[in-house]
Amino acid sequence: MTDHINTIETENAVYKTLLESTKAIPWKIDWASMTFAYIGPQIEQLLGWTPASWVSAEDWATRMHPEDREWVVNFCVSQSKAGIDHEADYRALTKDGSYVWIRDVVHVVRKDDGEVDSLIGFMFDISDRKKTEERLLSLQKELEDLSFKDGLTGVSNRRMFDSILEAEWANARRNNQPLSLLMIDIDYFKQYNDHYGHIQGDSCLKMVGEVLGAAATRARDSFARFGGEEFVMVLPETDARSAEKVAERCRKLIFKKQIPHEKSQVSHVLTVSIGVGTIIPTHKDESTAFIEMVDKRLYQAKQNGRNCIVNGS
Ligand code: GH3
Ligand code: MG
Ligand code: MG
Repeated sequence: MTDHINTIETENAVYKTLLESTKAIPWKIDWASMTFAYIGPQIEQLLGWTPASWVSAEDWATRMHPEDREWVVNFCVSQSKAGIDHEADYRALTKDGSYVWIRDVVHVVRKDDGEVDSLIGFMFDISDRKKTEERLLSLQKELEDLSFKDGLTGVSNRRMFDSILEAEWANARRNNQPLSLLMIDIDYFKQYNDHYGHIQGDSCLKMVGEVLGAAATRARDSFARFGGEEFVMVLPETDARSAEKVAERCRKLIFKKQIPHEKSQVSHVLTVSIGVGTIIPTHKDESTAFIEMVDKRLYQAKQNGRNCIVNGS
């Protein structure tokens, strides 16, 4: 008999050592009294609170980030009442006032009659995992932003333009609203590069991007680099007259910048030519045909002597 008790005691000691030497922190809550029957001493190293300070379930709830508290407590109580094992991630308050991300994994122990007897669980420190997750999320966001941005000028790229035009095209068709498009091309930019060099050509493109980006003033207006030294502006719910005004503003803004362009054949400063189109799309229209039409007007503006606008009227 004594041997048997000794064996049990030895086993218990082994279990206790095992429990208290893991990184996971074991605990037990008595359901009827909602008090801690046990919590591993490792808790003090992780959060700073001594094991003796974990008395009631209330201590657990109050040492939780206020944003997590309500849903975690409600979730754990309802799962426990239903007798379902569960787990929850939350930020636990440390004694020095900071927070540590914890995953609490809970097993519901039931009595023979099915009533809940106690909860036993393990708390895992998942702060490193959370940090990695957060870093990954922010990297993903950064990547998403970058994939819609032109690397040189920082304005929206061709891909972004394609998806915006598609959305606005559908919108205009559904609501029977005019949609306008501007195609803007720098005059004699090849000569600019040849004369000033590609590096200065690049800075010039950046400046043009900045200036024209600020010319689109309404919330849903969008501006993008179409490719090379061509830019586009999508103007939803904008009729031909208003679009013409925006085009004129763009042309003037660039001219006012007085960017020297000695080799231009139309001016001593950098200028742009602009094609403008407006459409209330029907189901018969294709956006690609619309872009082509506006592109033809841009070509026409070049033919007309550059530093001008062609809008089809
Ligand atoms: P036009 O007045 O008829 O538009 O003449 P252009 O010389 O501007 O037209 P063209 O399309 O013949 O040449 C465009 C030039 O734009 C060619 C290329 O050297 C320059 N270009 C295109 N992309 C870039 C770029 O990313 N950086 C620089 N520096 N130059 C670029
Ligand atoms: Mg061009
Ligand atoms: Mg050009």
